Amino acid sequence: MANKDFTVAIVGGGMCGLVCAYALAKAGISVQVFEAAPEFGEVGAGVGLGPNAVRALDRLGVLSAVLARSEHSSPVLRPFLFVSGYDAQEVIYDYSVGDDDRGLPIHRAAFLDAIIGISDMKIAHLNKRCIAVQHTHVSATASDFGSTLFFSDGTSHRAHLVIGADGIKSTIRKYVVDPLAGDAEHNTNRNNKTNLAFSGSSAYRGLLPNSTVVAAGVKIDLTVQPVCFCGIDRHIITFPIQAGRIINVVAFSTITRDDSATGALDELPHPWVQPVAKQELIETFETRGWGADSDAIKLLNCMENPSRWSIHAVEPPLLSYVDAERGIALIGDAVSAWNAATSRTGVGQGFEDVVVLTELLTHPETNLSNLEHILNAYDSARRPRGNMVLEASARMGRITTRYGKSGYSNEEMRTKLAGIWSPVWHHDLNEDINKAMESLREKCVFKQAESS
Ligand SMILES: Cc1cc2nc3c(=O)[nH]c(=O)nc-3n(C[C@H](O)[C@H](O)[C@H](O)COP(=O)(O)OP(=O)(O)OC[C@H]3O[C@@H](n4cnc5c(N)ncnc54)[C@H](O)[C@@H]3O)c2cc1C
Repeated sequence: MANKDFTVAIVGGGMCGLVCAYALAKAGISVQVFEAAPEFGEVGAGVGLGPNAVRALDRLGVLSAVLARSEHSSPVLRPFLFVSGYDAQEVIYDYSVGDDDRGLPIHRAAFLDAIIGISDMKIAHLNKRCIAVQHTHVSATASDFGSTLFFSDGTSHRAHLVIGADGIKSTIRKYVVDPLAGDAEHNTNRNNKTNLAFSGSSAYRGLLPNSTVVAAGVKIDLTVQPVCFCGIDRHIITFPIQAGRIINVVAFSTITRDDSATGALDELPHPWVQPVAKQELIETFETRGWGADSDAIKLLNCMENPSRWSIHAVEPPLLSYVDAERGIALIGDAVSAWNAATSRTGVGQGFEDVVVLTELLTHPETNLSNLEHILNAYDSARRPRGNMVLEASARMGRITTRYGKSGYSNEEMRTKLAGIWSPVWHHDLNEDINKAMESLREKCVFKQAESS
Protein backbone atom coordinates (compact mmCIF):
# COMPACT_ATOMS: atom_id res chain seq x y z
CA MET A 1 0.00 0.00 0.00
CA ALA A 2 1.22 3.48 -0.85
CA ASN A 3 2.58 5.24 2.22
CA LYS A 4 2.07 8.80 0.96
CA ASP A 5 -1.08 10.74 0.11
CA PHE A 6 0.28 11.87 -3.27
CA THR A 7 0.94 10.13 -6.59
CA VAL A 8 3.86 10.62 -8.96
CA ALA A 9 4.11 10.33 -12.75
CA ILE A 10 7.59 10.22 -14.28
CA VAL A 11 7.83 11.18 -17.95
CA GLY A 12 10.83 9.45 -19.55
CA GLY A 13 12.27 6.03 -18.82
CA GLY A 14 15.95 6.71 -19.49
CA MET A 15 18.68 6.15 -16.93
CA CYS A 16 17.46 8.91 -14.58
CA GLY A 17 13.72 8.24 -14.93
CA LEU A 18 14.05 4.52 -14.20
CA VAL A 19 16.37 5.02 -11.23
CA CYS A 20 14.00 7.64 -9.83
CA ALA A 21 10.99 5.34 -10.29
CA TYR A 22 12.84 2.52 -8.53
CA ALA A 23 13.75 4.71 -5.54
CA LEU A 24 10.24 6.10 -5.10
CA ALA A 25 8.52 2.73 -5.53
CA LYS A 26 10.91 1.12 -3.05
CA ALA A 27 9.89 3.74 -0.50
CA GLY A 28 6.23 2.89 -1.03
CA ILE A 29 5.27 5.95 -3.08
CA SER A 30 2.67 5.41 -5.80
CA VAL A 31 4.62 6.08 -9.01
CA GLN A 32 4.12 5.35 -12.71
CA VAL A 33 6.70 5.90 -15.45
CA PHE A 34 5.81 6.74 -19.05
CA GLU A 35 8.33 6.14 -21.83
CA ALA A 36 7.84 7.30 -25.42
CA ALA A 37 9.83 4.48 -27.02
CA PRO A 38 8.39 1.00 -27.70
CA GLU A 39 11.00 -0.51 -25.39
CA PHE A 40 13.46 0.56 -22.73
CA GLY A 41 16.83 0.84 -24.32
CA GLU A 42 19.53 3.43 -24.57
CA VAL A 43 20.60 4.63 -27.97
CA GLY A 44 24.34 4.71 -28.22
CA ALA A 45 27.26 3.22 -26.57
CA GLY A 46 29.02 3.09 -23.27
CA VAL A 47 28.75 5.52 -20.43
CA GLY A 48 31.57 6.46 -18.09
CA LEU A 49 30.16 7.01 -14.62
CA GLY A 50 32.23 9.36 -12.50
CA PRO A 51 32.87 8.89 -8.77
CA ASN A 52 29.98 11.19 -7.81
CA ALA A 53 27.62 9.18 -10.05
CA VAL A 54 28.78 5.95 -8.44
CA ARG A 55 28.25 7.35 -4.93
CA ALA A 56 24.76 8.55 -5.88
CA LEU A 57 23.86 5.09 -7.23
CA ASP A 58 25.15 3.54 -4.02
CA ARG A 59 23.00 5.88 -1.95
CA LEU A 60 19.98 5.00 -4.11
CA GLY A 61 20.57 1.30 -3.41
CA VAL A 62 21.17 0.26 -7.02
CA LEU A 63 24.96 0.09 -7.24
CA SER A 64 25.30 -3.63 -6.59
CA ALA A 65 22.73 -4.42 -9.30
CA VAL A 66 24.58 -2.14 -11.74
CA LEU A 67 27.94 -3.69 -10.85
CA ALA A 68 26.50 -7.14 -11.43
CA ARG A 69 25.75 -6.15 -15.05
CA SER A 70 29.16 -4.53 -15.53
CA GLU A 71 32.51 -6.20 -15.96
CA HIS A 72 33.66 -5.13 -12.51
CA SER A 73 32.96 -6.43 -9.05
CA SER A 74 33.55 -2.98 -7.56
CA PRO A 75 34.06 0.58 -8.85
CA VAL A 76 37.41 1.07 -10.50
CA LEU A 77 40.25 3.55 -10.29
CA ARG A 78 40.58 5.10 -13.71
CA PRO A 79 43.36 7.65 -14.04
CA PHE A 80 42.71 9.80 -17.09
CA LEU A 81 45.44 10.26 -19.66
CA PHE A 82 45.60 13.40 -21.81
CA VAL A 83 47.62 12.90 -24.98
CA SER A 84 48.34 14.91 -28.09
CA GLY A 85 45.98 14.32 -30.99
CA TYR A 86 48.77 15.36 -33.32
CA ASP A 87 51.22 12.76 -32.08
CA ALA A 88 49.74 10.05 -29.88
CA GLN A 89 53.11 9.18 -28.39
CA GLU A 90 53.19 12.45 -26.50
CA VAL A 91 51.57 12.35 -23.08
CA ILE A 92 50.43 15.80 -21.99
CA TYR A 93 49.12 15.01 -18.54
CA ASP A 94 48.36 11.95 -16.46
CA TYR A 95 45.41 12.86 -14.21
CA SER A 96 46.15 10.67 -11.25
CA VAL A 97 43.32 9.59 -8.99
CA GLY A 98 42.97 8.67 -5.35
CA ASP A 99 40.98 5.98 -3.64
CA ASP A 100 37.90 8.25 -3.50
CA ASP A 101 37.86 8.62 -7.27
CA ARG A 102 36.42 5.28 -8.30
CA GLY A 103 34.15 5.33 -11.32
CA LEU A 104 32.51 2.74 -13.52
CA PRO A 105 32.42 2.26 -17.28
CA ILE A 106 29.33 0.38 -18.44
CA HIS A 107 27.31 -0.25 -21.55
CA ARG A 108 24.13 1.84 -21.43
CA ALA A 109 21.86 -1.10 -22.22
CA ALA A 110 23.47 -3.11 -19.40
CA PHE A 111 22.78 -0.25 -16.99
CA LEU A 112 19.09 -0.16 -17.91
CA ASP A 113 18.86 -3.96 -17.68
CA ALA A 114 20.23 -3.72 -14.16
CA ILE A 115 17.55 -1.26 -13.03
CA ILE A 116 14.77 -3.12 -14.85
CA GLY A 117 15.96 -6.34 -13.19
CA ILE A 118 15.31 -4.95 -9.69
CA SER A 119 12.16 -2.95 -10.48
CA ASP A 120 8.51 -3.89 -10.52
CA MET A 121 7.93 -3.11 -14.18
CA LYS A 122 4.15 -3.06 -13.75
CA ILE A 123 4.59 0.65 -13.03
CA ALA A 124 6.26 1.25 -16.41
CA HIS A 125 4.34 2.06 -19.59
CA LEU A 126 5.87 2.00 -23.06
CA ASN A 127 4.75 3.80 -26.24
CA LYS A 128 3.55 6.70 -24.07
CA ARG A 129 4.86 9.91 -25.58
CA CYS A 130 3.67 12.78 -23.43
CA ILE A 131 2.56 15.64 -25.68
CA ALA A 132 0.89 18.00 -23.21
CA VAL A 133 0.28 18.64 -19.54
CA GLN A 134 -2.74 20.36 -18.07
CA HIS A 135 -3.21 21.56 -14.51
CA THR A 136 -6.78 21.85 -13.45
CA HIS A 137 -6.39 23.11 -9.91
CA VAL A 138 -3.64 25.34 -8.69
CA SER A 139 -3.89 24.95 -4.96
CA ALA A 140 -1.66 22.85 -2.79
CA THR A 141 -4.44 22.07 -0.38
CA ALA A 142 -7.19 21.11 -2.82
CA SER A 143 -7.69 17.36 -2.84
CA ASP A 144 -7.94 17.41 -6.62
CA PHE A 145 -4.65 19.26 -7.05
CA GLY A 146 -2.56 17.72 -9.80
CA SER A 147 -1.80 17.49 -13.49
CA THR A 148 -3.13 15.46 -16.37
CA LEU A 149 -0.60 14.11 -18.83
CA PHE A 150 -1.81 13.61 -22.40
CA PHE A 151 -0.13 11.03 -24.61
CA SER A 152 0.17 10.76 -28.38
CA ASP A 153 -1.92 7.56 -28.38
CA GLY A 154 -4.92 9.55 -27.11
CA THR A 155 -4.74 8.32 -23.51
CA SER A 156 -4.13 10.41 -20.40
CA HIS A 157 -2.99 9.98 -16.82
CA ARG A 158 -3.43 12.09 -13.71
CA ALA A 159 -0.96 12.52 -10.86
CA HIS A 160 -0.20 15.00 -8.09
CA LEU A 161 3.45 15.34 -9.00
CA VAL A 162 4.98 15.18 -12.48
CA ILE A 163 8.71 14.49 -12.77
CA GLY A 164 10.16 15.39 -16.15
CA ALA A 165 12.96 12.89 -16.89
CA ASP A 166 12.48 13.22 -20.63
CA GLY A 167 15.98 14.24 -21.61
CA ILE A 168 17.41 17.15 -23.54
CA LYS A 169 14.37 17.49 -25.83
CA SER A 170 12.08 17.55 -22.79
CA THR A 171 8.39 18.23 -23.33
CA ILE A 172 7.87 18.82 -19.61
CA ARG A 173 10.52 21.57 -19.44
CA LYS A 174 8.31 24.07 -21.25
CA TYR A 175 5.75 23.83 -18.44
CA VAL A 176 8.44 24.85 -15.96
CA VAL A 177 9.76 27.64 -18.18
CA ASP A 178 6.26 29.03 -18.71
CA PRO A 179 4.02 27.97 -15.82
CA LEU A 180 0.88 29.22 -17.56
CA ALA A 181 1.45 26.86 -20.50
CA GLY A 182 -0.41 24.04 -18.78
CA ASP A 183 -3.22 25.93 -17.09
CA ALA A 184 -6.61 24.77 -18.25
CA GLU A 185 -7.79 28.22 -19.25
CA HIS A 186 -4.80 28.73 -21.52
CA ASN A 187 -3.96 27.18 -24.82
CA THR A 188 -1.63 24.28 -23.94
CA ASN A 189 0.56 25.12 -26.91
CA ARG A 190 1.03 28.76 -26.08
CA ASN A 191 4.72 28.45 -25.29
CA ASN A 192 7.13 27.17 -27.86
CA LYS A 193 10.22 28.19 -25.95
CA THR A 194 12.49 25.18 -25.77
CA ASN A 195 15.48 26.66 -23.92
CA LEU A 196 17.57 24.59 -26.28
CA ALA A 197 20.70 25.74 -28.05
CA PHE A 198 23.31 24.04 -30.17
CA SER A 199 26.38 23.62 -27.95
CA GLY A 200 28.73 24.19 -30.88
CA SER A 201 29.99 20.61 -30.63
CA SER A 202 29.23 17.56 -32.72
CA ALA A 203 30.12 14.06 -31.59
CA TYR A 204 30.98 10.98 -33.63
CA ARG A 205 30.48 7.89 -31.49
CA GLY A 206 31.50 4.30 -31.84
CA LEU A 207 32.17 1.04 -30.01
CA LEU A 208 35.29 -0.58 -31.40
CA PRO A 209 36.70 -4.03 -30.64
CA ASN A 210 40.15 -3.48 -29.19
CA SER A 211 41.48 -6.16 -31.54
CA THR A 212 40.44 -3.93 -34.49
CA VAL A 213 42.10 -0.91 -32.89
CA VAL A 214 45.36 -2.80 -32.35
CA ALA A 215 45.26 -4.28 -35.87
CA ALA A 216 44.90 -0.73 -37.24
CA GLY A 217 48.26 0.10 -35.67
CA VAL A 218 47.10 2.23 -32.73
CA LYS A 219 50.05 2.06 -30.34
CA ILE A 220 48.64 3.61 -27.20
CA ASP A 221 46.96 1.06 -24.94
CA LEU A 222 43.31 2.13 -24.69
CA THR A 223 42.25 -0.85 -22.58
CA VAL A 224 43.45 0.35 -19.19
CA GLN A 225 42.11 3.86 -18.67
CA PRO A 226 40.18 6.70 -20.30
CA VAL A 227 42.23 8.72 -22.76
CA CYS A 228 41.60 12.22 -24.10
CA PHE A 229 43.30 13.12 -27.39
CA CYS A 230 43.58 16.92 -27.47
CA GLY A 231 43.89 19.48 -30.27
CA ILE A 232 42.47 22.80 -31.38
CA ASP A 233 38.65 22.63 -31.59
CA ARG A 234 38.90 18.85 -31.75
CA HIS A 235 39.20 16.20 -29.09
CA ILE A 236 38.51 12.50 -28.73
CA ILE A 237 37.60 10.69 -25.53
CA THR A 238 37.98 6.93 -25.25
CA PHE A 239 37.32 4.55 -22.42
CA PRO A 240 37.42 0.78 -22.20
CA ILE A 241 34.29 -1.27 -21.50
CA GLN A 242 33.72 -5.01 -21.27
CA ALA A 243 37.07 -5.53 -19.55
CA GLY A 244 38.91 -3.71 -22.33
CA ARG A 245 37.58 -5.88 -25.15
CA ILE A 246 35.60 -2.89 -26.44
CA ILE A 247 36.76 0.72 -26.71
CA ASN A 248 34.08 3.40 -26.44
CA VAL A 249 35.08 6.30 -28.69
CA VAL A 250 33.53 9.78 -28.82
CA ALA A 251 35.22 12.19 -31.23
CA PHE A 252 34.24 15.85 -30.87
CA SER A 253 34.42 18.66 -33.35
CA THR A 254 33.73 22.11 -31.93
CA ILE A 255 33.14 25.24 -33.92
CA THR A 256 35.61 28.02 -33.20
CA ARG A 257 34.33 30.71 -30.83
CA ASP A 258 36.51 33.05 -28.89
CA ASP A 259 36.01 33.66 -25.19
CA SER A 260 34.29 36.97 -25.82
CA ALA A 261 31.55 35.32 -27.92
CA THR A 262 28.26 35.62 -26.11
CA GLY A 263 24.80 34.40 -26.89
CA ALA A 264 23.50 30.93 -27.54
CA LEU A 265 23.76 29.21 -30.89
CA ASP A 266 20.39 28.46 -32.45
CA GLU A 267 18.92 25.00 -32.04
CA LEU A 268 19.75 22.97 -35.15
CA PRO A 269 17.07 21.44 -37.35
CA HIS A 270 16.30 17.78 -36.72
CA PRO A 271 17.49 15.09 -37.03
CA TRP A 272 20.32 15.74 -34.60
CA VAL A 273 21.85 12.34 -35.38
CA GLN A 274 22.88 11.79 -38.97
CA PRO A 275 24.94 9.13 -40.72
CA VAL A 276 28.07 10.60 -42.32
CA ALA A 277 30.76 9.33 -44.65
CA LYS A 278 33.92 8.20 -42.88
CA GLN A 279 35.81 10.68 -45.05
CA GLU A 280 33.97 13.58 -43.37
CA LEU A 281 35.08 12.33 -39.98
CA ILE A 282 38.71 11.93 -41.01
CA GLU A 283 38.85 15.30 -42.78
CA THR A 284 37.30 17.02 -39.77
CA PHE A 285 40.43 16.09 -37.81
CA GLU A 286 43.11 16.02 -40.52
CA THR A 287 42.34 19.57 -41.61
CA ARG A 288 43.27 20.61 -38.06
CA GLY A 289 46.71 19.08 -38.32
CA TRP A 290 46.01 15.60 -36.91
CA GLY A 291 48.47 13.51 -38.93
CA ALA A 292 47.40 10.46 -40.93
CA ASP A 293 49.94 8.41 -38.97
CA SER A 294 48.77 9.56 -35.55
CA ASP A 295 47.06 7.10 -33.24
CA ALA A 296 44.00 9.35 -33.25
CA ILE A 297 43.44 9.19 -37.01
CA LYS A 298 44.15 5.44 -37.06
CA LEU A 299 41.48 5.09 -34.39
CA LEU A 300 38.96 7.15 -36.34
CA ASN A 301 39.66 5.02 -39.40
CA CYS A 302 38.30 2.04 -37.46
CA MET A 303 34.87 3.68 -37.14
CA GLU A 304 32.72 2.10 -39.84
CA ASN A 305 29.43 3.85 -40.68
CA PRO A 306 29.96 6.80 -38.31
CA SER A 307 27.11 9.10 -37.35
CA ARG A 308 27.29 12.70 -36.22
CA TRP A 309 25.39 13.84 -33.11
CA SER A 310 24.69 17.55 -32.76
CA ILE A 311 25.11 18.18 -29.06
CA HIS A 312 22.56 20.55 -27.60
CA ALA A 313 22.42 22.22 -24.22
CA VAL A 314 19.72 23.74 -22.03
CA GLU A 315 20.38 27.38 -22.77
CA PRO A 316 19.71 29.82 -21.26
CA PRO A 317 20.00 27.86 -18.00
CA LEU A 318 16.69 27.40 -16.21
CA LEU A 319 15.74 29.91 -13.54
CA SER A 320 14.11 27.06 -11.67
CA TYR A 321 14.16 23.25 -11.79
CA VAL A 322 10.51 23.16 -10.67
CA ASP A 323 7.10 24.69 -10.97
CA ALA A 324 6.35 24.05 -7.33
CA GLU A 325 2.89 25.56 -7.39
CA ARG A 326 1.74 23.19 -10.11
CA GLY A 327 3.68 20.14 -8.92
CA ILE A 328 6.34 19.69 -11.61
CA ALA A 329 10.03 18.89 -11.11
CA LEU A 330 12.76 18.23 -13.65
CA ILE A 331 15.70 15.84 -13.32
CA GLY A 332 18.64 14.74 -15.47
CA ASP A 333 19.20 16.08 -18.97
CA ALA A 334 15.75 17.69 -18.97
CA VAL A 335 17.10 20.27 -16.57
CA SER A 336 20.72 20.69 -17.52
CA ALA A 337 22.01 18.54 -20.29
CA TRP A 338 25.45 17.18 -20.47
CA ASN A 339 28.12 19.45 -21.79
CA ALA A 340 30.20 18.02 -24.62
CA ALA A 341 33.36 18.85 -22.79
CA THR A 342 33.84 15.82 -20.63
CA SER A 343 32.31 12.41 -20.53
CA ARG A 344 32.32 12.28 -16.77
CA THR A 345 29.83 14.79 -15.49
CA GLY A 346 26.67 14.04 -17.49
CA VAL A 347 24.39 11.46 -16.02
CA GLY A 348 26.00 11.85 -12.60
CA GLN A 349 24.19 15.17 -12.26
CA GLY A 350 20.91 13.41 -13.01
CA PHE A 351 21.60 10.75 -10.36
CA GLU A 352 22.40 13.49 -7.86
CA ASP A 353 19.06 15.14 -8.76
CA VAL A 354 17.36 11.81 -8.07
CA VAL A 355 19.05 11.40 -4.68
CA VAL A 356 18.04 14.85 -3.44
CA LEU A 357 14.51 14.76 -4.86
CA THR A 358 13.70 11.24 -3.67
CA GLU A 359 15.15 11.79 -0.18
CA LEU A 360 12.96 14.88 0.18
CA LEU A 361 9.86 13.18 -1.22
CA THR A 362 10.25 10.10 0.97
CA HIS A 363 10.89 12.10 4.15
CA PRO A 364 8.35 11.08 6.83
CA GLU A 365 7.01 14.65 7.11
CA THR A 366 6.44 15.12 3.36
CA ASN A 367 2.83 14.98 2.19
CA LEU A 368 0.52 16.47 -0.41
CA SER A 369 -0.08 19.63 1.60
CA ASN A 370 3.60 20.58 1.74
CA LEU A 371 4.67 19.30 -1.69
CA GLU A 372 5.08 22.84 -3.00
CA HIS A 373 7.67 23.64 -0.30
CA ILE A 374 9.44 20.33 -0.89
CA LEU A 375 9.86 21.10 -4.59
CA ASN A 376 11.17 24.59 -3.86
CA ALA A 377 13.68 23.09 -1.43
CA TYR A 378 14.83 20.64 -4.13
CA ASP A 379 15.32 23.53 -6.55
CA SER A 380 17.31 25.71 -4.19
CA ALA A 381 19.50 22.78 -3.11
CA ARG A 382 20.26 21.49 -6.60
CA ARG A 383 20.49 24.52 -8.90
CA PRO A 384 23.74 26.04 -7.55
CA ARG A 385 25.47 22.66 -7.78
CA GLY A 386 24.14 22.06 -11.31
CA ASN A 387 25.36 25.48 -12.45
CA MET A 388 28.78 24.90 -10.92
CA VAL A 389 29.14 21.58 -12.76
CA LEU A 390 28.08 23.18 -16.04
CA GLU A 391 30.76 25.83 -15.59
CA ALA A 392 33.39 23.20 -14.75
CA SER A 393 32.42 21.23 -17.87
CA ALA A 394 32.63 24.31 -20.05
CA ARG A 395 36.06 25.13 -18.58
CA MET A 396 37.25 21.60 -19.31
CA GLY A 397 35.96 21.93 -22.87
CA ARG A 398 37.90 25.14 -23.37
CA ILE A 399 41.11 23.46 -22.20
CA THR A 400 40.92 20.20 -24.16
CA THR A 401 40.12 22.08 -27.38
CA ARG A 402 42.94 24.63 -27.11
CA TYR A 403 45.96 22.38 -27.31
CA GLY A 404 48.42 23.07 -30.08
CA LYS A 405 50.81 25.58 -31.62
CA SER A 406 48.25 28.39 -31.62
CA GLY A 407 46.87 27.32 -28.24
CA TYR A 408 48.18 25.98 -24.95
CA SER A 409 51.58 24.40 -24.46
CA ASN A 410 52.05 21.15 -22.54
CA GLU A 411 53.03 23.13 -19.47
CA GLU A 412 49.92 25.32 -19.67
CA MET A 413 47.73 22.25 -20.17
CA ARG A 414 49.19 20.58 -17.08
CA THR A 415 48.60 23.64 -14.93
CA LYS A 416 45.04 24.07 -16.14
CA LEU A 417 44.06 20.40 -15.90
CA ALA A 418 45.44 19.77 -12.42
CA GLY A 419 42.57 18.97 -10.05
CA ILE A 420 39.91 20.17 -12.49
CA TRP A 421 37.47 17.36 -11.70
CA SER A 422 37.84 17.59 -7.96
CA PRO A 423 34.82 19.86 -7.29
CA VAL A 424 32.64 17.72 -9.57
CA TRP A 425 33.72 14.39 -8.12
CA HIS A 426 34.03 15.28 -4.44
CA HIS A 427 30.78 17.02 -3.73
CA ASP A 428 29.03 15.89 -0.56
CA LEU A 429 25.33 15.39 -1.33
CA ASN A 430 24.57 15.61 2.39
CA GLU A 431 25.32 19.32 2.09
CA ASP A 432 22.51 19.73 -0.47
CA ILE A 433 20.10 17.65 1.55
CA ASN A 434 20.94 19.36 4.84
CA LYS A 435 20.49 22.74 3.19
CA ALA A 436 17.07 21.68 1.92
CA MET A 437 16.05 20.28 5.33
CA GLU A 438 17.21 23.43 7.07
CA SER A 439 15.14 25.67 4.82
CA LEU A 440 12.10 23.43 5.37
CA ARG A 441 12.56 23.67 9.14
CA GLU A 442 13.03 27.43 8.98
CA LYS A 443 9.70 27.67 7.15
CA CYS A 444 8.16 25.35 9.77
CA VAL A 445 7.30 22.86 7.02
CA PHE A 446 9.34 20.27 8.91
CA LYS A 447 9.61 20.09 12.70
CA GLN A 448 12.81 21.39 14.28
CA ALA A 449 15.39 18.64 14.78
CA GLU A 450 15.44 17.27 18.32
CA SER A 451 18.40 18.77 20.18
CA SER A 452 20.50 16.03 21.71
C1 LIG B 1 27.72 11.66 -27.25
C2 LIG B 1 27.36 11.57 -25.79
C3 LIG B 1 28.20 10.89 -24.91
C4 LIG B 1 27.91 10.87 -23.54
N1 LIG B 1 28.75 10.21 -22.70
C5 LIG B 1 28.52 10.27 -21.37
C6 LIG B 1 29.40 9.61 -20.45
O1 LIG B 1 30.35 8.93 -20.83
N2 LIG B 1 29.15 9.75 -19.11
C7 LIG B 1 28.07 10.47 -18.64
O2 LIG B 1 27.90 10.57 -17.42
N3 LIG B 1 27.20 11.04 -19.49
C8 LIG B 1 27.40 10.96 -20.83
N4 LIG B 1 26.53 11.55 -21.68
C9 LIG B 1 25.34 12.20 -21.11
C10 LIG B 1 24.30 11.16 -20.71
O3 LIG B 1 24.01 10.34 -21.83
C11 LIG B 1 23.04 11.87 -20.24
O4 LIG B 1 23.37 12.76 -19.19
C12 LIG B 1 21.98 10.87 -19.76
O5 LIG B 1 21.59 10.02 -20.80
C13 LIG B 1 20.76 11.63 -19.24
O6 LIG B 1 19.81 10.70 -18.81
P1 LIG B 1 18.28 11.12 -18.72
O7 LIG B 1 17.57 9.91 -18.19
O8 LIG B 1 18.13 12.42 -18.03
O9 LIG B 1 17.84 11.41 -20.23
P2 LIG B 1 17.81 10.43 -21.48
O10 LIG B 1 18.84 9.38 -21.37
O11 LIG B 1 17.81 11.31 -22.68
O12 LIG B 1 16.39 9.71 -21.36
C14 LIG B 1 15.18 10.41 -21.62
C15 LIG B 1 14.09 9.39 -21.88
O13 LIG B 1 12.85 10.08 -22.02
C16 LIG B 1 12.14 9.58 -23.15
N5 LIG B 1 11.29 10.67 -23.62
C17 LIG B 1 11.67 11.80 -24.26
N6 LIG B 1 10.60 12.58 -24.50
C18 LIG B 1 9.53 11.93 -23.99
C19 LIG B 1 8.13 12.25 -23.92
N7 LIG B 1 7.65 13.37 -24.42
N8 LIG B 1 7.30 11.35 -23.33
C20 LIG B 1 7.78 10.18 -22.79
N9 LIG B 1 9.10 9.84 -22.84
C21 LIG B 1 9.96 10.71 -23.42
C22 LIG B 1 13.24 9.19 -24.13
O14 LIG B 1 12.77 8.24 -25.07
C23 LIG B 1 14.30 8.62 -23.18
O15 LIG B 1 14.11 7.24 -22.94
C24 LIG B 1 26.76 11.54 -23.05
C25 LIG B 1 25.88 12.18 -23.93
C26 LIG B 1 26.18 12.20 -25.29
C27 LIG B 1 25.23 12.90 -26.23
